[in-house]
Formats: sequence, C-alpha cells, structure tokens
Amino acid sequence: MKNWEKNIRKVVPYVPGEQPKKARMIKLNTNENPYPPAPGVAETLKCIDTDKLRLYPDPVVGDLVQAIADFYQVGSNQVFVGVGSDDVLAMIFMTFFNSDKPILFPDITYSFYDVWADMLRIPYEKVPLDEQFRIQSKDYARPNGGVIFPNPNAPTGELMELAQIEDIIKANPDVIVVVDEAYIDFGGMSALPLVEKYDNVIVVQTFSKSRSMAGSRIGYAISSPALIRYLNDVKYSFNSYTMDSITIALGTAAIRDRAYFEETRDKIIKTREWTKEQLAELGFVFGDSKSNFIFAMHPKVSGEKLFEVLKEQDIYVRHFSKPARINEYLRITIGTDEQMQELIDFLRSYLSA
Ligand SMILES: *Cc1c(COP(=O)(O)O)cnc(C)c1O
Repeated sequence: MKNWEKNIRKVVPYVPGEQPKKARMIKLNTNENPYPPAPGVAETLKCIDTDKLRLYPDPVVGDLVQAIADFYQVGSNQVFVGVGSDDVLAMIFMTFFNSDKPILFPDITYSFYDVWADMLRIPYEKVPLDEQFRIQSKDYARPNGGVIFPNPNAPTGELMELAQIEDIIKANPDVIVVVDEAYIDFGGMSALPLVEKYDNVIVVQTFSKSRSMAGSRIGYAISSPALIRYLNDVKYSFNSYTMDSITIALGTAAIRDRAYFEETRDKIIKTREWTKEQLAELGFVFGDSKSNFIFAMHPKVSGEKLFEVLKEQDIYVRHFSKPARINEYLRITIGTDEQMQELIDFLRSYLSA
C-alpha cells in the first residue's frame, strides 16, 4: 500500500437504477414519470437566449424559489433549491447531522442515506420496519443526532399519517427531523403544516417524479427561515452556482402549471389502482402503495427470476437483492395505461405457462 492511500476518502457509492439505451422498451425501473413535462417547459426552452449562457446563473435561484414559494404559499425565505433532491439531501446531511449520536432512518429505505452518512462520517443506526414494512413512530423515541425518512417510504410505498410523523417530531425536539417527500404527490398528506408548527422540521420534495423532470435535476427543501439560512450558508461554502440558468427557467415554467401537474398525477394514481387490481388477480402480494410504484412479490416465482424474465421482454423493473427481507420483491414504476397493460399481459401468460 502506498503511503498516500491511507488519506484517501474511500466510499462505496450509491448505485442508481439502470438507464438502458433501447429504442423500444418499457422502463419501469427508476420511478420516472411516463408523461412529458408541462407544455410551458418546451415553450420556455424554445425561447432560451443562448447569448445569456455567457453569464453565471442566479446563485440564489430567485425565480424558481419564488415560484415554489407561491405554489405552496410559504415565504421565499423558507425555500432552498438544489440540483435534484439528492443534492438537497446531501446538503442537509452536511449541515444538520453533526452530532456524536447516531442519526436514525429505517433499515429498508432510500439507499442513498447510508451512503451520505458513510461519506460524511456521520454515525447512524438503521431502525427496522415492522412486519408489514411500516415505520413505527415509537421506535424513533430514543437518543439520536437527527432523523430522516421518506414518506411514502421507498421502496415499499407505505404512507405514514401526519399524526404518526408528528409523534416522531414531538419525541425529537432537540434534533432536525427530515421528511423526504419524493412521492407525496401520489396520494399522501404533506408534512408542510408541521413545518409551520415546529422549528426543527424540513420537508424535501423533487421535480423528478410527479413533475416529470428527472432529467433537469431539481429538488427543494421547505423549512423555517432559520434552517434555510443555515442550509444556504453551507451550499455557498461548497459551490454557489449549482443550478444552471436553463434549468431555473424550465423549472419555473413547470411549477407554474398547476392544472397539468394535477391532471398527470391523477392519471398515474388511476393507473396505479388499476395495476393493483390486476396484480392481485395474478396472485401478487403487495402493500397499499401511495407512490408512483408498487412493491410486489409473487409467492410462486422468485424476485430475481421475475426480474430476469421481464428484462428479456425489455420490460425493466427494479430488484434489490439486499437486504434479504426484500429480495423476493420487485419495485414496479407506474407507466402509462398501455405500458401497464403490456406488463400485465406478459405476466399473465408467463404465470399460466
Ligand atoms: C427519487 C428519490 C430521491 C431523489 O430524487 P432526485 O431525482 O435527486 O430529486 C430522493 N429520495 C427518494 C426517497 C427518492 O425516491
């Protein structure tokens, strides 16, 4: 071993879902939205003045911050914008999780949390989900350096009621509690009212799923002005110009179109409920997902096998081989009605063969 080796920050990186380059495939593996972004996004893109690219973008991302603040009826000093919610969450870990005590998050959850904690050398403890893959509030009432969980949780799709979230917040007045709401628009109640009620709560959301803009990388946090200020201080100490000027314009156009957002969201919810009925008929077992995916297993075929046979049909879903408890499950993103029909047709013929 070379001497410099010992001073390298060695990390085990997060592994994102595959992005296969196939002309014809059904891509249900990374929870993207099957519908295009709001029409205003394409119009804005056509009008981009490329001469403006000479200039640095607005470091405070003012237009987009204001548009998000308008949408949620909060102050613009309560909004922090980042390059995808992954960026927002990484900044939150860096800013708020600096205790000697471990931060807490579920054992089965978004697999980026332990990666950031490891990279930033934040101690953590994984809190087991119950038998039904649910988060139990009482498990978070113990000494810790911060709490984070998605609602609905990923990859299970299980939604917590606001009262349960409030119980976690009440039990943790001395640390920051982060609610990762990447999927909240697909049928859950946002914890935003709790941001007004408690000074230690941060809600994080993204344009990647319900707003069809995973490719643009836009995420945001809403919290008290004090916490948003701390977050901005760290961001500006790291890289002040993270979001480019084109993305700022496109994101602003997207969030201003509430009607389109609601229409595509409702379509996905309807397709999800249809897919649940079909999967149940085929003998699949799954919880009552309130997200844009269904986490399902079949008692007769292994998760790995199903993943492979679907892939042979160019139908991509997500399979997690670890931890063992979820190894029989597939996470199936909700696509268009036609895509889900094809998936169901194939599964029906495969399972009856
Ligand atoms: C998709 C996802 C994110 C990250 O989304 P971005 O594309 O970075 O905005 C964060 N948390 C959870 C739970 C997710 O599923």
